[in-house]
Amino acid sequence: MHHDFFQTKIEFLKGVGPIKAEILKKELGIYTQGDLLHHYPFRYVDRTKFYTVREANANLPYIQIKGVITSLIVRGEKRRKYLCGRFEDKTGFLELRWFQGIKWITANLKLNTEYVLFGKPTEFNGSINIVHPELELVSEAQLTVASSMQPVYSTTEKLKLKGLDSKGMLRLQKNLHQFLPQNLPETLPQSVLDEYKFLSRLKTYSAIHFPESIHQQEKAETRIKFEELFFLQLRLLHMKLLRTEKVKGIVFDKVGDYFNDFFHNHLPFALTNAQKKVIKEIRIDIGSGKQMNRLLQGDVGSGKTMVALMCMLIAIGNGYQACIMAPTEILANQHAESIASFLKNMNVNIALLTGSTRVGARRKIHEQLENGEINILIGTHALIEDKVQFKNLGFVVIDEQHRFGVEQRSRLWKKNDIVPHVLVMTATPIPRTLAMTLYGDLDVSVIDELPPGRKPISTVHKYDTNRLQIWAFLKKEIAAGRQVYIVYPLIEESEKIDLNNLMAGFESICRDFPAPQYHVSIVHGKMKPKDKDFEMQRFVKGETQIMVATTVIEVGVNVPNASVMIIENAERFGLSQLHQLRGRVGRGAEQSYCILMTSSKLGKDSRLRIATMCETNDGFRIAETDLKLRGPGDAEGTRQSGLLDLKLADLSRDAALVQRTRDIAIEILKADPQLSSSVNAGTRHELNAQIRKSGQWGRIS
Ligand code: ADP
Ligand code: MG
Repeated sequence: MHHDFFQTKIEFLKGVGPIKAEILKKELGIYTQGDLLHHYPFRYVDRTKFYTVREANANLPYIQIKGVITSLIVRGEKRRKYLCGRFEDKTGFLELRWFQGIKWITANLKLNTEYVLFGKPTEFNGSINIVHPELELVSEAQLTVASSMQPVYSTTEKLKLKGLDSKGMLRLQKNLHQFLPQNLPETLPQSVLDEYKFLSRLKTYSAIHFPESIHQQEKAETRIKFEELFFLQLRLLHMKLLRTEKVKGIVFDKVGDYFNDFFHNHLPFALTNAQKKVIKEIRIDIGSGKQMNRLLQGDVGSGKTMVALMCMLIAIGNGYQACIMAPTEILANQHAESIASFLKNMNVNIALLTGSTRVGARRKIHEQLENGEINILIGTHALIEDKVQFKNLGFVVIDEQHRFGVEQRSRLWKKNDIVPHVLVMTATPIPRTLAMTLYGDLDVSVIDELPPGRKPISTVHKYDTNRLQIWAFLKKEIAAGRQVYIVYPLIEESEKIDLNNLMAGFESICRDFPAPQYHVSIVHGKMKPKDKDFEMQRFVKGETQIMVATTVIEVGVNVPNASVMIIENAERFGLSQLHQLRGRVGRGAEQSYCILMTSSKLGKDSRLRIATMCETNDGFRIAETDLKLRGPGDAEGTRQSGLLDLKLADLSRDAALVQRTRDIAIEILKADPQLSSSVNAGTRHELNAQIRKSGQWGRIS
């Protein structure tokens, strides 16, 4: 049976055995024959061409040279020993180096015997050497078929020691292909195969591992990318279908009195069109009888809180409770304050629950939640404690959701028998293709418009040598009544040094901006929540003009009077973080500024990050650049999601294919939601196999 081929344990493949199997699992996650088949070459090299030693230079990729080893000598200190070999041909010599497996190599390499060497020339101290080359006796070089597209496989030092270098891997792939069933059933629907004129599955596998031409390799690669993305989308959409079938949603059949009263009598400004559009989308969802899982994306300052509040009012108007969870105490406080002030003339009972809520108050909140007296609960992680029980929670808002783990979030909606509607909000704009994938099982709303009257923030790049000029500028802004943030990096790995830098910076700022004329606040993650809050409040009230801080102020903090954001060591921040920080200013009607301070030497990527920031205020453009620079593996939220097991497809480069495969998956599921029709049998089979393999990654409920 064909599926036996894929699921057969790797130790049963000829040439593997228990020891190699163990390290294949550990080092590359290869457990089965299927895993090995999906371990594709990461590049191909031209094995028809031989270079001479004299031609070898560091600009060349992997190359092969014929020659002999004339000496092998161990060099270096005790713990840093390495093996040096002298490799010669008629045109000269170069140095070979090994840092591991010295004993084995010394015992097994033959001096003065002709080898084919394969490796990447590098330059070290002005001479050419090759580190950990692959060597094959010319007399035994039968495996290396002279091909202009010889596959190269990624492997590790540990694997190499057991003979599984790239060539060893190739040997396994050849063994594997002998057993590849000739009648591999199709996984893609016939209509797709016809439309794209894809190679058959069998041909695809042989063409990706042993291509006869670039053209053939490209065809195989396209099919594999398509298949990876198609099944990813199919899984997400299938999961969403299952959920809507299984989970009944609370029906909010009216907008209710609270919403109407607020909308007509208390709303302090006109909603933007984007806000209206999103509220409408949510209203349709929560009235439909299905449970809502919606992601609300909107750049910093776009007014997500108001949208959340108005939805919570609908919940209350339908007789349910609502809650909003924020990632930090500062943010929770701020939500509580702004919501309290929006609702001050209405009869809505709100409560704030955080880590600092005192025992007595806490107990009272617990009680009032259970008897239904509290309408809206605002808080931090404290909300997900087991003691917090609602009478009838109907609507959950999660702010800055990427700060919470999936598990943490799901604990919140398990608090009810009926799953409440869930709105997760993020100010980190996610490029479309990534959103379609990361949040492919959610509905997505976007606020793509800022409230009127905001001026774009003017962003500049400056160096330490500009310090005097910048300080003078700050004094001018402060004299005009504005406030200033100065942010320092603080990352865990170098926490001590960073904290020292922050304190040194703080002291020198206090010296340059002396009391009584100036007052400076400081906030960082190592302070007690109470002290942090006290300092924050001083700044919010305008008692201090300068806020020196680490990224704890990154999220959500709202001081409309602040007009300057200075970011120290800006080269150490990621793009999305820089954008978030910048979003702390530009919240009022005044012109705001963001000053990115860096050292004078910058790497290529840092330079591009800074330039992007200076060029645009558009969060989505910034997110696209971020995705290109860092790859999706690092993009916000992907790391914890663990669902991006893409071997060849790339969410950034293959954006069009992401869209296309999603559309096709939607079409197929629309016509045949259970994939029960015979034309979809192969697709269904593959989908089940993938779900069995990695489990169902339910994101929300
Ligand atoms: P974010 O989306 O970053 O959470 P907020 O909800 O904090 O943004 O809104 C930023 C500021 O804009 C707040 O002071 C809020 O009261 C204000 N705001 C929200 N919507 C509007 C609007 N339609 N018109 C004017 N100001 C608005
Ligand atoms: Mg916010």
